[in-house]
Amino acid sequence: MRFSGFRLVAEALRGHSGWKPLWRDPAPQPAYDVVIVGGGHGMATAYYLAKTFGQARIAVLDKGWVGGGNIGRNTTIIRSNYLLPGNEPFYELSMTLWEGLEQELNFNAMVSQRGVLNLCHTDGQRDSFRRRGNAMRLAGADAKLLEADEVRAMAPFLNFDNARFPIKGGLLQGRGGTARHDAVAWGYARGADVAGVDIIQNCEVTGFDIDNGRVTGVQTTRGPIRANTVGVAVAGNSGRVMGLAGMRLPIESHVLQAFVTEGLKPAIPGVITYGAGHFYISQSDKGGLVFGGDIDGYNSYAQRGNLPTVEDVVEGGMALMPMIGRARLLRSWGGVMDMSMDGSPIIDATPVEGLYLNAGWCYGGFKATPASGYCFAHLLATGRPHEVAAAYRLDRFARGHVIDERGAGAQPNLH
Ligand SMILES: Cc1cc2nc3c(=O)[nH]c(=O)nc-3n(C[C@H](O)[C@H](O)[C@H](O)COP(=O)(O)OP(=O)(O)OC[C@H]3O[C@@H](n4cnc5c(N)ncnc54)[C@H](O)[C@@H]3O)c2cc1C
Repeated sequence: MRFSGFRLVAEALRGHSGWKPLWRDPAPQPAYDVVIVGGGHGMATAYYLAKTFGQARIAVLDKGWVGGGNIGRNTTIIRSNYLLPGNEPFYELSMTLWEGLEQELNFNAMVSQRGVLNLCHTDGQRDSFRRRGNAMRLAGADAKLLEADEVRAMAPFLNFDNARFPIKGGLLQGRGGTARHDAVAWGYARGADVAGVDIIQNCEVTGFDIDNGRVTGVQTTRGPIRANTVGVAVAGNSGRVMGLAGMRLPIESHVLQAFVTEGLKPAIPGVITYGAGHFYISQSDKGGLVFGGDIDGYNSYAQRGNLPTVEDVVEGGMALMPMIGRARLLRSWGGVMDMSMDGSPIIDATPVEGLYLNAGWCYGGFKATPASGYCFAHLLATGRPHEVAAAYRLDRFARGHVIDERGAGAQPNLH
């Protein structure tokens, strides 16, 4: 069924009785060509595998439900404002895929290019933003360095004259913005289902069948499933799941929290990030201020966070825009982040033949969903990395070729 204005009117006239579930609920088959574990980036991967790379007999297995992982828990920010050559072309590919995603999927993912503004508070920070903006433009992305009065015209409510951290300007990516996270999960699931992918929810992978160094299938809570190729994209569970195949990853699992206030009238023009602390904010179409900050300060698999981080995040908010103190907090939630040692992801083959890994997305994997799915599908279909994801090798830590975007070293809490 194609969605359109005409379809909406037709359904309204017949009491909305013609809408169908967005995807089937099939029982797992005994064997597939490709099994993908994880229904976030994994779903996007399955979609591109079937649609673009013409593969058949694909299943996506998720231990929970479609959209229940980080893909439906994030603060919805999409952008491609990276510095390093290993990263920028990849995120720019993602941005171009976002720009055509709703037409591609025939699904309203509420992609809204309202702009992402990174604020700077010192002259040195402005210099580094200028460098990043230049790198972005060289890679074909858009970037504009703003003076303090231009920022003031856009967002007069910010605390410009803070004695410690005055706002000196900002780097604006006008094509950045937000997308409705769960609609992205549903849109890819619907597209994958139409292309013939079996989406199997409530199906946890509990082991891998490995024969002579080659994967031959997976063990699940719904029985064994044979497969020639297995792709794993399980975010904060990466260490645990790949441990089942005997691997130890350069990844730590940490909780990241997000917050939303009661609905307010339109107040914030786009996404704004605080350069003197870790705080980022936007306003949802329903009016809630959606914001977040640092990860909690210890490793965890719990999908909920702790109060000291709540205090830290709202202090960042108060320092940046004191008016936020008048808003009432409606909800908060958490997701388990796969924090890699250099802050950059892994899209690669593993030492087990036929077993592939997509992980290490840290805070930033939502914006990567389209390109991550596309490049992982390219890898699974061809056995070769896509050129924009060529730096995301699993062995780069052993080789010393890290992609340390923030220059923070091997400290996950700083990425
Ligand atoms: C609070 C918060 C805010 C964020 N804000 C942003 C943002 O603004 N912008 C941005 O770009 N990124 C953001 N991120 C990061 C982003 O959401 C993630 O990096 C991205 O969604 C990860 O995608 P994924 O597919 O790897 O993970 P997920 O969407 O979590 O998918 C992994 C799936 O694997 C399944 N799974 C796990 N173990 C198993 C198993 N054994 N068997 C079967 N299935 C299994 C899980 O159920 C889950 O559905 C944020 C994250 C959080 C938590």
